[in-house]
Amino acid sequence: MLSYRHIYHAGNHADILKHIIVSEICKHLIKKDTPFFYLDTHAGIGQYPLDSAQAQKNKEFQSGIARLLEEDHLPDAIESLLDIVRDMNPDNKLAFYPGSPKIVDYYVRQKDKLHLCELHPNDYPVLAALFPNKRKANVVKDNGFDAVKSMLPPPQKRGFVLMDPPYEVKKDYQYVVQALQDGHKRFPQGSYAIWYPVLNRKQADNLLRAVETTKIRNVLLVEMTIRDSEKERGMAGSGMIIVNPPWTLEKEANEFLPVLTKLLAEDAHADFQVSWITPE
Ligand code: SAM
Repeated sequence: MLSYRHIYHAGNHADILKHIIVSEICKHLIKKDTPFFYLDTHAGIGQYPLDSAQAQKNKEFQSGIARLLEEDHLPDAIESLLDIVRDMNPDNKLAFYPGSPKIVDYYVRQKDKLHLCELHPNDYPVLAALFPNKRKANVVKDNGFDAVKSMLPPPQKRGFVLMDPPYEVKKDYQYVVQALQDGHKRFPQGSYAIWYPVLNRKQADNLLRAVETTKIRNVLLVEMTIRDSEKERGMAGSGMIIVNPPWTLEKEANEFLPVLTKLLAEDAHADFQVSWITPE
C-alpha cells in the first residue's frame, strides 16, 4: 500500500523536528574533511511546493515552518533549518519547503555521496529529476528497508542513515527496528535516525521498547508533542531515535526544544523529552 503522500504534511511540526536533527547531524559530519555517505530509506520528493493543491489542503506548514519564520533570535539549531528554507526561497516568499534529501544536499561537499530510496511510482521520478547528477546522488525506486543491507557498510566508512517510513502499514513499526538491527550489524559506527509519530503514548512506547530490546547502545531519544496525545485523534507529536548521535546533540536538543515546543504548542499539554534509550 502506497497511499501516503508527504506533500500534505510538508513543513509541519513533525518535519521541523526531524529536519533540525538531520541538519545537526550533517553539521557534525562536515566538521571532518573525510567524505561521508548518506542513506535516505524513505526520501519523498526532495522538496515540496507549498502552493500546490495538496500542501494547501490543510496548510500544515502554516502552523509549522511559517510560524518559525516570523521569529527572530532562535536557538542555532532552529536558525540552521531556517537558513536552508531561506536559501530555497530567495525572494522571501515561502514557496518551497525542503525534504530530507534537500536538507542534506545543503551541507554535502563534492566528495560526499547520497543514496535516496523512494518507492512511490509518482514520487520517484520527481526526486530523480531533482538529483540528476549520479556522481553525487543515486536515486533508486527501491524498498528503503532493503537498502540498509545492500548499501551498508559504505566505502566511505562514515555516514548517516535516515529512516522515515510513513507507518501507514503497522508493519513499518517492526520493519524499522529490524532495519536498524540489519544496518547496525553491518555498519556499527554509523549514525542512524528513525522518525516516529506520536499518535498515542502506547504505540510510541512500544516502538521505543522494541529499540531498547535490540541492545544497541548509544541511543538518544528526542521527542516533541504539541498537544495532549491521549485526547484527540491524529498526530500529537513525533520523535527521533538517534543511534550514535553527535556528542553535542543532547545539549543542543535541550536548548532548542523548550523554545520550539513553546512556539508550536497547540495546548497546555505540549511537551518534549530528551533522554537516553540506552547510554553509550
Ligand atoms: N524523508 C522525507 C522527508 O523528510 O522529506 C519524507 C518521507 S515520507 C514520510 C515517506 C516516503 O516513503 C513517502 O514518499 C513514501 O512514498 C515512501 N515509501 C513508503 N514505503 C517505502 C519503502 N518501503 N521504501 C522506500 N520508500 C517508501
